[in-house]
Amino acid sequence: MNYSKIKKYDISNGIGIRCSIFFTGCNFHCPECFNPELWDKNSGNVFDDEVKNKLFTYLSDEHCDGLSVLGGEPLIQGMALVELLEEVKEKFPNKTIWLWTGYKLDGELDETQRMILSQCDYVVDGLFKRELSGKKLRFRGSSNQIIWRNENGNFVEATDIENNDRFNK
Ligand code: SF4
Repeated sequence: MNYSKIKKYDISNGIGIRCSIFFTGCNFHCPECFNPELWDKNSGNVFDDEVKNKLFTYLSDEHCDGLSVLGGEPLIQGMALVELLEEVKEKFPNKTIWLWTGYKLDGELDETQRMILSQCDYVVDGLFKRELSGKKLRFRGSSNQIIWRNENGNFVEATDIENNDRFNK
């Protein structure tokens, strides 16, 4: 599992102050992709134990509300990501996990991808479409993308996120 960058404090990707990690590797190859250099799963840096410990140190910051997982494409990271998210949940049970994917939750997903999603509190799904982009959108680039909240294992569309000030921390 490789990553391109980790942001210790990120206020753009999810509710509150987040620690964000951007994994490399993407199989969608969108023509308008801003980061084609991240398509190769072998690009970037290896996510080893040293990096993981750094990530956990960032997450243990009292000001950090949780982990945001982006890419590239997180859902092709396999069991390594399942295990990482399980560990995050175990160590930081009160912090949320957000994940962005080009896959659709109601599309064809394999078991490992579903295991990754099951660890997440919020998932933003769907490919970015420039013709559907808009400045009023929050945490998503285009209106075809949907923010889902994990409610006891069921993903429910979180339509309240963009309109509700209580989420503006
Ligand atoms: S899903 Fe995202 S990272 Fe992958 S090719 Fe499309 S725009 Fe690029």
